[in-house]
Amino acid sequence: MFRNYGEKYIGQENAGQKHYRQKNKWQKNWGQKNVGGKIGWQEYLGRENRRGNMTSLFQIVIVVLAVAWWPLCAGSSDGRPTGILTALPEEMQVLSQHLKDKRMRTFLGVTFQTGKLEGRKVVLATSGIGKVNAAKTAALLLDRFHPGEVIFSGVAGGLNPDLAPGDIVIGTRTAQHDFGKLTERGFEPQTPTAETPLFIEAPGELLRAADRVAARVKLAPVLTTHGTRTPRVIRGVIITGDVFVASPTKVAELRETFKADAVEMEGAAVALVCWQQRVPCMVIRSISDKADVGAWEDFERFIKMAADNSARFTLELLRVLKEQPKVTP
Ligand code: SAH
Repeated sequence: MFRNYGEKYIGQENAGQKHYRQKNKWQKNWGQKNVGGKIGWQEYLGRENRRGNMTSLFQIVIVVLAVAWWPLCAGSSDGRPTGILTALPEEMQVLSQHLKDKRMRTFLGVTFQTGKLEGRKVVLATSGIGKVNAAKTAALLLDRFHPGEVIFSGVAGGLNPDLAPGDIVIGTRTAQHDFGKLTERGFEPQTPTAETPLFIEAPGELLRAADRVAARVKLAPVLTTHGTRTPRVIRGVIITGDVFVASPTKVAELRETFKADAVEMEGAAVALVCWQQRVPCMVIRSISDKADVGAWEDFERFIKMAADNSARFTLELLRVLKEQPKVTP
């Protein structure tokens, strides 16, 4: 039942209704021209075809031109925009600067910017920090703008010791790390249900597009103790909770329980809302800190550089998606 509810929103039911309407229309026309039932439907179509050879040719030319032109001017192949969310204004800055044909609309206090990025139709919004703000913004985005896919771009604390500020994690899966059961034995993650899995998987098509981005994107260099290096881009697990993590004990626990590479405060909330409505979603995060005792200072120091790296990655992703427009959940 839940599945059917979700499918309604990815247009399958609408497509069905359209087909049904068209079939009815055809039956009605046929009925009018076939008073008394003298001709069969094959014959009816034959008559129509003979009469309309030139018209059909003209129609075919129009359809071919429209099909060729459509991906150049629209967002995804079915004309839906790509939704891009961030938590903080710093994370939106580069994206907003590149936005063409900008228009603003506000719903429930959340401002959405529509326009074109890298020639692709987009809707941008900054949700504010935390899962509630993120889920609210994601629900509004889906309900008001019907995006073909949703990308979350922002910064995160690195849990994987190989990651440094500026590196990028492409979220293969996301989970809420603070949603579950707390007993005398400690914390246990939520029991997965049909509507709310523990891990939400990103669709393969978006992940493959992100891999192509990784091979060609130009990012700001990462600072290390030995100088600078080109940022690493890895596929990894991103976990989400309503706390800023600045504790090595918590880092060890999160690595152990979730095998996670990065921790942040919005991704899984957006991914879950999208997953429930069968809208493809992927979280991209650049590392701003290592979620350790120095996390707060690192966050303040690297937020701009990391936020820009994630935004640049997202811009390149839009270019790649434009080259291979259709994304399925
Ligand atoms: N500057 C804000 C706080 C930012 S909270 C203030 O003054 O209130 C951190 C933001 O960056 C969140 O949106 C979260 O998604 C991400 N983030 C970066 N490092 C994080 C960490 N160590 N733990 C949790 N979230 C982190």
